[in-house]
Amino acid sequence: MKNKLSSLLNDLPLLLRRIKQPNLERGYYPQRALLIVAHPDDPEYFCAGTIARWARSGAEVCYIICTSGQLGTKNSNTDPYEIARIREGEQIAAARLTGVKDVVFLRHQDGLLEDTITLRHQLVREIRRFRPEVVVINDPRIYFGEDFINHPDHRAAAEAALGAVYPLAGSPLIFRELENDGFQAHTVRKLYIFTWNQPNTWVDITDSIDIKIAALKLHHSQMGDSDLSDSIRHAASRSAKFLRMKYAEPFRVLQMISDDDWSDLTDRA
Ligand SMILES: [Zn+2]
Repeated sequence: MKNKLSSLLNDLPLLLRRIKQPNLERGYYPQRALLIVAHPDDPEYFCAGTIARWARSGAEVCYIICTSGQLGTKNSNTDPYEIARIREGEQIAAARLTGVKDVVFLRHQDGLLEDTITLRHQLVREIRRFRPEVVVINDPRIYFGEDFINHPDHRAAAEAALGAVYPLAGSPLIFRELENDGFQAHTVRKLYIFTWNQPNTWVDITDSIDIKIAALKLHHSQMGDSDLSDSIRHAASRSAKFLRMKYAEPFRVLQMISDDDWSDLTDRA
């Protein structure tokens, strides 16, 4: 009884937040989505259920992976270039399974990623090239949880992506050479920040969680024989609590421009 009561009290803030703002996005499917993350396998851990759902509806999706995960081994005799080659191959296979054809590796140093002008310039170029309706990133505000440190590369990629989405990608007067090369300023409609820290939107991944798990398994060099199916299902089930869905991925969604302004922009394009 005492345990039940304490579990109820633990869940109370979550329940109240979801009653207050239960944005489930059940009927929303972007036409073009750009994902910006630090490492191969980040898309699968964080949001491949949502990406698979969107891709199945016909969305064009592009992954930007800032490093090639070349530190992904405990064996000091391994060649980092070989690890990078293997991990890029695994990421491309996982993306294909999820329905994503376009994968770009920026090949920064794994473990030392920084939010620099160079990285922002590269991200602005990709945003202006791909012209996404939605950009998906990590949450730069999370430094650590109960029993883990959020990888600093995740925060660096997210910080650089935030700056690239706003204000740089939509400002024609910055990085003028990109305009000269044909990459015109572009305003993103919505920003999806994958987070378990004050999300305001939950995407139903009940029909796509099997793809998420299968795509994660394709990262053989990192997963080995371990099977994360149960922990992925447990986390997604926890995210879906009180939402009348079985599995969900949580996001903080920011509407960058109004729906009317977005329609005007797409009509003009
Ligand atoms: Zn990572």
